Amino acid sequence: MRAVRVHEHGGERVLLLEELPIPEPGPGEVRIRVAWCALNHLDTWVRRGVPGHRFPLPLIPGCDFSGVIDSCASDVTDWPQGTRVCVNPGLFCGSCSCCMADNQHLCRGFGIYGETTHGGNAEFAVVKAENLLQVPDSFPLDKAAAFPLTYLTAWRMLVGRCQIREGEKVLIHAAGSGVSVAATQIARHFGARVMVTAGTDEKVEKGIANGAEAGCNYQTEDWKKFAKEWAGGSNLDIIVDHVGMDTIPAGIWLLAKGGRLVTCGVTSGAEMNLHLAPVFFKSLSILGSTMGTPRDLSNAAELIWTGQLSPVLDSSFLMANVQEAHRRMGERAVFGKILLEVDSSLG
Ligand SMILES: [Zn+2]
Repeated sequence: MRAVRVHEHGGERVLLLEELPIPEPGPGEVRIRVAWCALNHLDTWVRRGVPGHRFPLPLIPGCDFSGVIDSCASDVTDWPQGTRVCVNPGLFCGSCSCCMADNQHLCRGFGIYGETTHGGNAEFAVVKAENLLQVPDSFPLDKAAAFPLTYLTAWRMLVGRCQIREGEKVLIHAAGSGVSVAATQIARHFGARVMVTAGTDEKVEKGIANGAEAGCNYQTEDWKKFAKEWAGGSNLDIIVDHVGMDTIPAGIWLLAKGGRLVTCGVTSGAEMNLHLAPVFFKSLSILGSTMGTPRDLSNAAELIWTGQLSPVLDSSFLMANVQEAHRRMGERAVFGKILLEVDSSLG
């Protein structure tokens, strides 16, 4: 089969298209004929490397993928060949105290397809049957590949961590990122009001088309002033942040009493000076979040199948052009998900 593999970390040139043996499913596993695979920031970390972190190279990247069941291990009987599926990217042991408490994302043995084991940048991928989600016949497989990681993450952030409520005022940074697109739709689904920030007028407009009530181009306007005017003072209930150093120190001053700031990443930098006075005076919560549970994903998926939430696609590239797709990831204009087309004839 053809697959993309990373043997050493570096620029786009380390993404090599190779011919590899078709993998065989082990106990509890199925083999998927892959149709589409979505890119995430995780793919760029796998490619570039992360200081102090070891990836199991050589590795096939790709944590979000869809396709049809090709074959199953003999102990997997409830997934007929040809079933259309997408995949929960999170791997967990299923038997530790965290897993038993439905907190699989806290499992000590937690892993992710395309990070800790081979992923979906390949014509075939082997996954655990318990990680499968059946895709309805009427739902396109490209969109099915585009949502798991980001909607799972955004659902855990807003619903699991922040316990979002109707009418709350939510600021979501970087409107065009996959997690922010998902968070905007999920917040609106729960009846919250949303404002977004973005680096271009075009992305602000797309953020509003995606459900935000207001948007601020932080390149041309002071987003802090904008947020205060929108919320009627320092009156935000929730801030969804994956920017970090450039936004969190100012952000905590904009929260109302009892406000929550939830972070799932730090694209601008992780180290910052934080003034703690508003944190205790206003009983704020600063919450960290990574990935989510199978239940988070199935809750989001139910709304996706019925069109109440809808993944936004930025662009697609043939798998052979994976280097070009990664270059697109680095462009400022990206809004929504970038897809790799592996075999679009599957649906
Ligand atoms: Zn576990």
